[in-house]
Amino acid sequence: MSELILAIEDEEPVRDAIVAALESSGYQVITAEDGEEGLERLISERPDLVLLDLMLPKIHGMDVCAAIREHSEVPVIMLTGLAAEDDRVEGLTRGADDYITKPFRARELAARVRAVLRRSRHWSSDDREEIVVGDLVVRPAAREVYLHDERVDFTPKEFDLLEYLARNAGRIVARDRLLERVWGSDEYIDARTLDVHIRWLREKLEVDPSSPERLLTIRGQGYMLVTGD
Ligand code: CA
Repeated sequence: MSELILAIEDEEPVRDAIVAALESSGYQVITAEDGEEGLERLISERPDLVLLDLMLPKIHGMDVCAAIREHSEVPVIMLTGLAAEDDRVEGLTRGADDYITKPFRARELAARVRAVLRRSRHWSSDDREEIVVGDLVVRPAAREVYLHDERVDFTPKEFDLLEYLARNAGRIVARDRLLERVWGSDEYIDARTLDVHIRWLREKLEVDPSSPERLLTIRGQGYMLVTGD
């Protein structure tokens, strides 16, 4: 059974391009022209993923995304014509799982959709409330992290990365796998992004970030969060 994608987009040519790209990749697609209609279709048809345009009439895409999150944990990919980094970051912090900058290629769109769906399937099969790794506690539903019983704040991507490492604690996780699981695609992300996020995680988790004892680099293989016992 193919997955159902809801595309919320006011511009007809873009909507048609989305439908064509996704149907040719084997997905079923339903559409909405604005946020109101989009929310109605979300509730009545329960899609597996939502593609959400940022610049919409009536309700802005950011607010539509926030409203979606009140009803559902469905993965959301934001479509944005705005290149400003701030908008992207705000989109992700408002609960979107990924974003695509317009104009996009059909192949890129299908690849992102596939990656986000795969990631959400993978994670939904593991619904632990708490992942305990030594004195580190990750709470996926609340998106909270505690270290020595103290709450530590992480950005959405840092959290996703830590959560994936914690679910695989004690195992080496390859760089490509992290890129694919956390960023959704290894084709369109600069691999240095991962290095930077690993450094940020270490600054929050390690006593001495320059000589990590918790989040180890396994040379030539990847990273490992040590279990601590
Ligand atoms: Ca638009």
